[in-house]
Amino acid sequence: MTEPAAAEKTPLEERLIALIKANGPITVADYMEDALGHPHDGYYSTETAIGADGDFTTAPEISQIFGELIGAWLVQSYLDMGEPKKFNLIEFGPGRGVMMADILRAASLRPQFLNAAEIWLVEKSGRLRHEQRRRLERLAAPRWTDDFHEIPPAPSLVVANEFFDCLPIRQFDRLAAGWRERLVGLSPDGTSLAFCTAPTPPLASLPLPQEAAPGAVFEFSEAAERLVADLAAMLIREGGRALIIDYGHFGGGLGDTLQAVRRHAYWQPLAAAGKADITAHVDFEALSRAAINAGAAVWGPVAQGVLLDRLGLAARAQRLSAGKSPTQVLEIERAIRRLAAPEEMGEVFKALAICAPNLPRPAGFDPP
Ligand code: SAH
Repeated sequence: MTEPAAAEKTPLEERLIALIKANGPITVADYMEDALGHPHDGYYSTETAIGADGDFTTAPEISQIFGELIGAWLVQSYLDMGEPKKFNLIEFGPGRGVMMADILRAASLRPQFLNAAEIWLVEKSGRLRHEQRRRLERLAAPRWTDDFHEIPPAPSLVVANEFFDCLPIRQFDRLAAGWRERLVGLSPDGTSLAFCTAPTPPLASLPLPQEAAPGAVFEFSEAAERLVADLAAMLIREGGRALIIDYGHFGGGLGDTLQAVRRHAYWQPLAAAGKADITAHVDFEALSRAAINAGAAVWGPVAQGVLLDRLGLAARAQRLSAGKSPTQVLEIERAIRRLAAPEEMGEVFKALAICAPNLPRPAGFDPP
């Protein structure tokens, strides 16, 4: 008899099981980091992640209008910064390079912007770097790094779409006895990965809320908060702005948001490690706090639908529809509904602007 498919383990799963057998459970953050980022067996190195034939679709893949409006926001920011002769245009996690291509096309109306921009792509995955190079080589000469600290200092404009949701989170469960960290250990028979609870309380220095009912789950991402603090410090020093777009919440951040997706369907986060995309909702309140504590000016978050409307979504869609067939016009309408309608991506996706304090309010971040 052959074993059922569920018993087949990915190479990464085998290695994690052996590691946990030898050394004990690991944090959810360590698991996420390996499952996504392992250089050989991690998800971004092995799978076709993004797009219709991948596991999930992102805003820039839905319509070129998304990247074009972000391009307009960046050009306005460049003008707000006084049109520096050189600046870094940095994108975190550019995926297939679609958004950067649309940004550059939209920005071609301002040749000064394109001439001044040194394009930096912060990308870990070799496969995706290759795809980015192919898509962008005719438009620009980008450079790659996997650590933004290595980018030579200059005034900077930074964008990140669906990047922060991939950064590792730790999870904590509220038990009757208090908070305990949720860990990744082994099933009772030792043959697969399973969640378990740390036997002892977490360090008192962790930012766990005092008031919480038993059953509550608290998440936080040290990696995301550290990155935002470092970005904020860079923007204050060099000048510039960052636009972070992702799905997530502001305030009321209790709850388990760890999720895995494979082939456009939900998946068990601990099954087939390295084969499914694993993400968590972004805690925009924590990111804002990290940026404000570092001394930056923070705007938003505003809902993605609201931001796109304010940046001219309707007018842009109308221009794109001119001269198109009725089917194409319908497709454009469907795409903008997906991007902006509150029941689609318009509300759960949010945008946060982190800015050098001397700059004016960024476009689209109107006061309430
Ligand atoms: N922004 C793109 C892709 C989102 S998927 C879009 O909207 O379509 C997440 C991207 O971040 C991928 O390109 C992935 O390889 C990259 N990524 C994830 N974690 C990373 C890390 N720690 N360092 C650098 N890149 C990372």
